[in-house]
Amino acid sequence: MSRDPRFDVLFEPVRIGPVVAKNRFFQVPHCNGMGHALPEAHAAMRAAKAEGGWAVVSTEECEIHPSGDLSPYVEARLWDDGDIAPLALMCEAVHRHGALAAIELTHNGPASSNLYSREVALAPSHQPLKGGHPHQARAMTKRDIADYRRWHRAAALRARRAGFDIVYVYAAHDLSLPMHFLQRRRNQRSDEYGGSLENRVRLLREVLEDTKEAVGDTCAVALRFATEEFLGDEGVRADTEARDIVALLAELPDLWDVNVAAWHNDSMPSRFAAEGAQQPFIEWVKKLTSKPVVGVGRFTSPDTMVRQIRQGILDLIGAARPSIADPFLPAKVEQGRIEDIRECIGCNICVSGDMTITPIRCTQNPTMGEEWRKGWHPERIAPRRSERRILVVGAGPAGLEAARALGQRGYVVQLAEAAAELGGRVTRESRLPGLAEWARVRDWRVGQIQRMPNVDVYPGNRMTAEDVLETGAQRVVLATGCHWRRDGFGRSNGRPIPGFERGNVYTPDQLLRGDLPPGPVLLFDDDGFYLGSVLAELLVAQGRKVHFVTPDDVVASWSVNTLDFRHIQKRLRSLGVTLHTALNVLAFDGAAARLACVYSGREQLLDCASVVTVTARLPDDALQQELLAREGEWAGAGIEEVRCIGDCLAPGLIAHAVYAGHRHAREFDAAPGEQHASADVAFRRRRWSPAPE
Ligand code: ADP
Ligand code: SF4
Repeated sequence: MSRDPRFDVLFEPVRIGPVVAKNRFFQVPHCNGMGHALPEAHAAMRAAKAEGGWAVVSTEECEIHPSGDLSPYVEARLWDDGDIAPLALMCEAVHRHGALAAIELTHNGPASSNLYSREVALAPSHQPLKGGHPHQARAMTKRDIADYRRWHRAAALRARRAGFDIVYVYAAHDLSLPMHFLQRRRNQRSDEYGGSLENRVRLLREVLEDTKEAVGDTCAVALRFATEEFLGDEGVRADTEARDIVALLAELPDLWDVNVAAWHNDSMPSRFAAEGAQQPFIEWVKKLTSKPVVGVGRFTSPDTMVRQIRQGILDLIGAARPSIADPFLPAKVEQGRIEDIRECIGCNICVSGDMTITPIRCTQNPTMGEEWRKGWHPERIAPRRSERRILVVGAGPAGLEAARALGQRGYVVQLAEAAAELGGRVTRESRLPGLAEWARVRDWRVGQIQRMPNVDVYPGNRMTAEDVLETGAQRVVLATGCHWRRDGFGRSNGRPIPGFERGNVYTPDQLLRGDLPPGPVLLFDDDGFYLGSVLAELLVAQGRKVHFVTPDDVVASWSVNTLDFRHIQKRLRSLGVTLHTALNVLAFDGAAARLACVYSGREQLLDCASVVTVTARLPDDALQQELLAREGEWAGAGIEEVRCIGDCLAPGLIAHAVYAGHRHAREFDAAPGEQHASADVAFRRRRWSPAPE
């Protein structure tokens, strides 16, 4: 297959200062939790994208000095010459595939933690640290400004020695000193670096000039700039100062990488922002500069990308998440395999806070972060080792991915699903407000399976143990999912809540099936992630008055990790949901719930006609139990093994289920320890040799 001519424009080369990007696909900087700690893993992950056709592959933020230490987040690091070699690994790997390597140098000033370095943090003016740590950043003297410029310049030179082709100056996300100097709320200086816009832009201009002077003859110098902070006059505004800043610096950088701040406004989950949502805030930049412009918008559709180019909004299609969900997106467009693109679903599991500490994972792409440590390639998988026939029961994310990847290996697979529709929880949850894009997890896998002659799918087939024994499969994979508990057991309650056995207590599964409780509804969220808030939205849309009760101090506490926390708070308040925090539910009598403060124990009554309880889940493992009870019959039926994967083993995120399905397929027919460092550790680790005495 070859590419559709309407996508030709995406494959035009673009000159960026002294270097040339071979096409318009640009992987912008993104965190990954590997950085300086796991350089081989980091290099392998970036290499996969270069192999997949991205013309530019960038690092994450790269700290330039210990006074801008971002621990516990694991980012790139260029503090001194000793940090060059780990980054050179990435450059070599990226260059092997003909892509350019870019690095995002940063000193995060008051957005640093310095938990590791214990240096005093720096800022334009005295101020508390952005991250909530209980110590302050001090106002920079002129000497500090000179030092900072020197560190940045040294880091740029080291970046060039490592092999980078593009060096970023970072003034975005409310995360870096040049941006902090722009912000009136962070810069109260009265010298030539504060006050007027020209003064507040001075440091950014100087750092751009320093970087160009240091490495600009061979490296392109990019400016990552946030045009809008959504803070009114407290922040950078796209409709006022941002335009003046772009006009003042228009021709100085070789590339403008523009987005919005802070990070939660930039990497918006699909629940709160559609593809291309940043357009109104960046579309004017190209009119003010002759330099190429790159921007992001969770672009997964090549048609949308072409429109961005044709309409003169962008020159390069920036992507972080779409390149995580599908490192081979450009190659697939080029090869005319649009239907093979694994589209990002905008769930933000990849950006979650713990992912900047531990290696990145992705719901759609289970190989993300596993390229080096497990040797998982995003597109290739070992061919089958045997003629074994496999039965997969359950076509949720775990079963679909297991069947797809086993099918890709060439095994003969039967996939049986009780429901008429495939997809399991993904199908059900994608009908909830704002979650429609999650259906992409199902659609991509079903699309792939449909083209595999060796995978047969049987929807509308609820399998019994008898059925399983009759299929003639040698291996049985149970991916039968889980259900939400109705009894109130969960993190906060180790035993059932009295009264929850009543008829007007509803589980999320009932709401997902279309049962609706009478109002007013007490929604008891002891889960703390997205589902409680989505169900509250559903109930409000159905005209119910909702009391959101959580034993946590805040609503949807875990969603800080996926950057939807603030958006959820805003949404629930705007919908008129009444929020009750730090309250546990003690009992429910059908007309009122008895609540208790988790700190004082003080009790109160809350009138409600029904309760929706979002607490914990239980595996649907009845089929496994039935089969175990008949283990004596397995050999006669030809069955060698029955395995549970995904939610029917231990309920988790959709990402966990996809990973479980993929892992099962990868490890199928492998000897224990064969693919890894040892039989006990399922992945490769970095080994240090002891330092010579
Ligand atoms: P996971 O997230 O682990 O993939 P899901 O709950 O999304 O789990 O999917 C489990 C799927 O298994 C559901 O679609 C459900 O209908 C199906 N299922 C459960 N029990 C059986 C069974 N006995 N036979 C066939 N399909 C089943
Ligand atoms: Fe997209 Fe979710 Fe994967 Fe992130 S984890 S790249 S948001 S699919």
